[in-house]
Amino acid sequence: MISLGRINRIHMVALAAVLCSAGCGEDGASPSGGGETGEDARGGGGGEDARDNSDSGRIDTGDGDGGTHSDGGSDAGQADSGIQADSGGRDGGPADAGPRDAGSGDSGVVDDSPRLVQGLTIREVAFFQAVKVSLGKGGVAVQDRNAAVVAGREALVRVYFDLGSGWKSQSVTAEAVVDTGGKREVFTATLSPSAPSVEESLSSTFNVRVPGGKVAPGAAISVRLTAANGVPTPSGIASDARFPADGSYLGLDARSTGGPIDLVLVPMRYDTDGSGRLPDTGPHVLQTIERLLTTVYPADGVAITVRDPLPWNEDLTWSGGVDFNKLNQYIADIKEQDGAPSGSYYYGMIKPKGTFGEYCSWACVTGQGWVVDDPADGAIRAASGVAFDVDQTAWTCAHETGHLHGRYHAPCSTVDSDQNYPYSGGKIGVWGWDGPSNLLYSPDT
Ligand SMILES: [Zn+2]
Repeated sequence: MISLGRINRIHMVALAAVLCSAGCGEDGASPSGGGETGEDARGGGGGEDARDNSDSGRIDTGDGDGGTHSDGGSDAGQADSGIQADSGGRDGGPADAGPRDAGSGDSGVVDDSPRLVQGLTIREVAFFQAVKVSLGKGGVAVQDRNAAVVAGREALVRVYFDLGSGWKSQSVTAEAVVDTGGKREVFTATLSPSAPSVEESLSSTFNVRVPGGKVAPGAAISVRLTAANGVPTPSGIASDARFPADGSYLGLDARSTGGPIDLVLVPMRYDTDGSGRLPDTGPHVLQTIERLLTTVYPADGVAITVRDPLPWNEDLTWSGGVDFNKLNQYIADIKEQDGAPSGSYYYGMIKPKGTFGEYCSWACVTGQGWVVDDPADGAIRAASGVAFDVDQTAWTCAHETGHLHGRYHAPCSTVDSDQNYPYSGGKIGVWGWDGPSNLLYSPDT
C-alpha cells in the first residue's frame, strides 16, 4: 500500500463544454463532455501545449512549398517540389512537403559557399515542435527561449523574411543545415516570395521539416536562403540571407526526455452492475491516445501497453461517480505488484455505464490523478478515468496523465490552478503548430 498523502486531483465535468466556457474561450470540452480542458502540459519545458483539436484554433496549411532533404547538399538548391506531407488536406490545398530521403548517407559535401539570394532579409528563424520557439530575430540569437527544444521530436523550422526594395519574385530555397556530431545534412523548402512573411500564414514563410532523429542533443543549425542567381558567399562573411549571418552554427540545445512516455493502460472490468463491461482498448482508441499524448506533451513519443483487465466491484459514490480515490489506490498497488519501473504511467480505464450520457446526466467526475511533484514519486504515478467514446477517453487520459507529470490545472475557470502557468486564461500564449495535420494554432487557443 502506498500513502495517500499527495494531492489527488478530481475532475468534474458538467454538461458538455460548459465548465470552461467562461474563462477558456473555444478551448472547451469535447462534444462528449469528457474531454476536460485546461491541462497545463509544460512538463519538461519543451514543446508546449498545442492541444486544441477543435476547428477553432487552426489557421492554414500553407501551400506551394517544396521540401527536400539531401545529405550532401548538392541538389539542395534545386526547386524540387518534393512530396506532399499532408495528403489529408482538411483545409484543402497542398501542404508543405516533408523531407524526402535523397539517399546517400554521408555528409561532407554541404556547400560551404552557398549562392545566397540578394534582396531578401531573414527576419526570424523559429523552431516549432508544438509551440513556437524563436531561435533568432533580426540576426540575433534569442537568449531566453520560451521553451526548450525537445530531442527526438520532429520539428518545423520556419524562416520569416522581408523583401528588399526592387525585389523581383523568383524561386528561393531555404536550406536548414543540421549538424549532428560533425555530420551535416541539408533540409530544404522552396518558395517564390512575393510579400513579407506573416505569422498566421504558413504559405508566407519557408517551412522546413526536420526529422526527429536529427533533433539530437548537441545538434546545431545554420539557415540560409539560396537562389540560382545568388552570390556565392563563403562562411565568415555576414549576410542578411542567412542565420547566423556569418554562416556559423547555432546550438539547438535540444533536451532529451529519456525516451517515449511508458504508458500502461489498465482496463477495469466493471462488475458492480454485473455487466462485466470493459472499456474499448482497440487499435483506434490506442492510436487516438498516442496521437493526442504525443501532441500535447513535450515528449518524443508514447509507448502504450495494455495490461490484462482487472475486476472492479465497488459501488459508485453518493454523487454517482466512480470512487477514483479507491481506484487510484488500487492502480498504484497493481503497479507495485507488477514490478513496473518507477517512470511508468499506470492509467485505469473504466466504463461504469453503457454511455457517457447515462453516467453524466448533468455533472460527473471523469477522472482523477495524483500530482507527482517529485519525479521520484513513481509509486503514485497512477491515475484513472472514465472511458466511453474514443475522443473522451483520449482527452481524459491526457488530462489525468498531465497531473502525473506534476502539473496542476492551467488557469482556466478553476480555483486551484497552477500559479506558475505563464499565460492568462489557460491559453497557449504563443503560436503553435501540430505536425501531423500541419496546422497553426493562434496564441489564443
Ligand atoms: Zn485535472
